[in-house]
Amino acid sequence: MTTQASSSTIRKTLNFNAGPAALPTSVLRIAETEFLNYNKTGVSVMELSHRSKDFESIIFTAIKDLRELMDIPAEYEVLFMHGGGTGQFAAVPMNLLRGEKKASYVITGSWSAAAAEEAKKYVDDIEIAAHTGPSFTSLPSEWKVSADSAYIHYCHNETVNGNQYHNILEIASKYPTIPLVADMSSSFLSEPVDVRRFGCIYAGAQKNVGPAGVTIVIVRKDLLGNPAKFTPTILNYTITAAKESMYNTPPTYPIYITSLVLKWIKQQSLQHLSNVNKEKAQILYDYIDQSNGFYEAKIEPDARSRMNVVFLLKSEELTKTFVKEAEKHHIMGIAGHRSVGGCRASIYNAVPLEHVRELIQFMKEFATAHS
Ligand SMILES: *Cc1c(COP(=O)(O)O)cnc(C)c1O
Repeated sequence: MTTQASSSTIRKTLNFNAGPAALPTSVLRIAETEFLNYNKTGVSVMELSHRSKDFESIIFTAIKDLRELMDIPAEYEVLFMHGGGTGQFAAVPMNLLRGEKKASYVITGSWSAAAAEEAKKYVDDIEIAAHTGPSFTSLPSEWKVSADSAYIHYCHNETVNGNQYHNILEIASKYPTIPLVADMSSSFLSEPVDVRRFGCIYAGAQKNVGPAGVTIVIVRKDLLGNPAKFTPTILNYTITAAKESMYNTPPTYPIYITSLVLKWIKQQSLQHLSNVNKEKAQILYDYIDQSNGFYEAKIEPDARSRMNVVFLLKSEELTKTFVKEAEKHHIMGIAGHRSVGGCRASIYNAVPLEHVRELIQFMKEFATAHS
């Protein structure tokens, strides 16, 4: 708390960006201190060889910390890759189809739709296991999945639409033999998950755990070894695993910042962070629901995202005024995605509870002034 208070004079912006997004101030301070001279090397981390002892220590410690934080069993590989979530939309079918014809996709918003669209290039038979469009205000608890499907792909948290699965293991337990593949780009390490129940989890770092440029993949080892022939080497899980995420030059600086964020999470524990995340979402939705319709959250309560709180005002005009006024109050990134309009507050790990309280205070004052 004290760190946040003392830094608030320099970093007074309330950052609700959807991604790239807020990073913990204390992490940026460490990076600042080490920026010119990392660990007495006399050079910056980004000037180090990725084959140097210093960088190897950064990446291997990051992987070890991630394994600890998520309790990742030895039967899983942890990979640091390039290409973002979008790269994984292609990498997943290339690596995980394993000679099969069919893969199942659950469509619950714009990111899972994009994943299925990309997969069509590589999968003969895409099975749409469920589709909740065009509104995406609820999440299906029944999927239609064939027994010969190579994997089931779904998006854990739909960043644009603002929905999130809170009962995924219950649903997935109906398909125990089919690997479950999760796009966790915007919910990664925001709460504990049981990795053992997944075939593969992937996430771009830039929402919850670091800067843009590094993509984290957690994949069960028995699914490796049979990628499509045409798989580009940098998207190949098997080779990336064999080369310990350093087949080519990895994004060294993003990996370094991510390593600091992982330490920051370890210091407070994932459970604590998860509790704070829950509270942030709870107070914001509670306020929206009690605003007598001035603000409205359309997503059904049990499907609401704890990371991306999407809400509407009564008109486009009022929305524009709201965003403009917010900017004057140093509130950044509150406009909704251009495809859905309205507003969105992304309240990832690094957004303090206090910033959410300040946002609510601003929303109250705005509602009073414009009712
Ligand atoms: C941001 C995001 C992506 C795309 O990530 P890029 O790194 O920009 O490719 C994919 N899926 C989800 C859920 C996201 O939030």
